[in-house]
Amino acid sequence: GRVRVAVRLRPRSAEDLLSDADFADCVELQPELKRLKLRKNNWSSESYKFDEVFTGTASQKRVYEVVAKPVVESVLSGYNGTVMAYGQTGTGKTFTLGRLGKDDASERGIMVRALEDIVANVSLASDTVEISYLQLYMESIQDLLAPEKTNITINEDPKTGEVSLPGAVTVKVQDFDHFVELLQIGEGNRHAANTKLNTESSRSHAILMVYIRRSVPEKVEDDINSQDRKTKSKLPLVRKSKLLIVDLAGSERLDKSGSEGLLLEEAKFINLSLTSLGKCINALAENSPHIPTRDSKLTRLLRDSFGGSARTSLIITIGPSSRHHAETTSTIMFGQRAMKIVNVVKLKEEFDYESLCRKLETQVDHLTAEIDRQQKLRESEKYDLEKRLRDCHDSFNETRKNLVTRSELLEQKNTRLELVIEEALAELNCQKDQNSLLEDKIADLEMSLKQNKVIVFDKYLLWLFFHVLRLYDSS
Ligand code: ADP
Ligand code: MG
Repeated sequence: GRVRVAVRLRPRSAEDLLSDADFADCVELQPELKRLKLRKNNWSSESYKFDEVFTGTASQKRVYEVVAKPVVESVLSGYNGTVMAYGQTGTGKTFTLGRLGKDDASERGIMVRALEDIVANVSLASDTVEISYLQLYMESIQDLLAPEKTNITINEDPKTGEVSLPGAVTVKVQDFDHFVELLQIGEGNRHAANTKLNTESSRSHAILMVYIRRSVPEKVEDDINSQDRKTKSKLPLVRKSKLLIVDLAGSERLDKSGSEGLLLEEAKFINLSLTSLGKCINALAENSPHIPTRDSKLTRLLRDSFGGSARTSLIITIGPSSRHHAETTSTIMFGQRAMKIVNVVKLKEEFDYESLCRKLETQVDHLTAEIDRQQKLRESEKYDLEKRLRDCHDSFNETRKNLVTRSELLEQKNTRLELVIEEALAELNCQKDQNSLLEDKIADLEMSLKQNKVIVFDKYLLWLFFHVLRLYDSS
């Protein structure tokens, strides 16, 4: 995308009305044609085309919607973006960018409206919005949110060329009111710093950096290295983008703006960044092979904004007064050259290693707790088993002891019984002997009985004979 350039004309100021009362304005706007006519003299004028032309009556809302909103939207989608105001002091750069509009919301400038949009579109639970607010004066970067930090260095990643300011404070924005508060603190510090340095804010560049980190709905990717093609791994993705809102120092030449007291060298130094920005814009517009980005801190910080990968909108502010014809012309030429610059916007999407790491840490915590639980369980099981084993041992010993006692008892009983048996056997033998004696006696007796029976029978026969004899005698 080409750098978009809009021009905004400040209405006549009280000073203009006083000193230019009799003169016509040096510019004529043709908003419907998006053209601006710059009067060279009474007879001729030059016409320039811009992406948008705002008259003195254009509202802050419209300026935001045309100039900054597309950039903010692309920043929300993950691209880097820059909104920058360039113009002579007093032409409305700060009015356009930095107005807080605390009492009247319609007066809010681009910074406040951009953050309002950003905060409304991100989910502050899963996404983060952080800001840094800096001032660049005399090639020294001061932190407007931590004024004690005065010489912040710029780091450039040698591989990606990405510019970072590790020394600057970044504050996580909680909500819109918090942001306005931070902006107000920054403004206060800017004023205090400039009073201390005995300068005006018109000589310093104010840079608001908004870092947005949004998580992308999880993509399911094939794990190519895996043997099992069906294995899918979920990789959380994150989009990181950066919005720069730059309120540049006044583009007028210092010798004209009452800086006579300054040494020439110092004066050059003050505007070194701006001069070098002009050179870079010229080189880029002419497609020069060498862009002197490294010549100043401002051009190093804006490396991505011009000729880089950011979507950039430039608003050039001019006054109507013919007194400042030269400055107005140079501002318009700056804008015309910037319109020729083409940036190649790039989406910065990367794996959300932080969230993956957090996820894995939670899993590890979970597993550790589970292992602890299992170990405790095992320990208590082991204790139980050991207790049971001890109990078994004890009861085994007890039983063995009992058995030993019983077997001893039985043995004693046995011996006693054996003795008894022996005695009984002896008695039995004795009885047996007596028995056989008795049997002999019985046999003897039977014998004698038999003999006696024969004698009795003989005696009976004898008696019977005598009896028969007597009977016979008697008869
Ligand atoms: P710069 O930052 O370019 O030096 P300022 O933003 O401080 O200029 O503006 C200078 C004065 O002009 C301020 O008082 C401001 O309110 C006024 N002014 C600038 N632009 C406009 C505008 N579009 N409408 C009304 N007043 C303006
Ligand atoms: Mg200003």
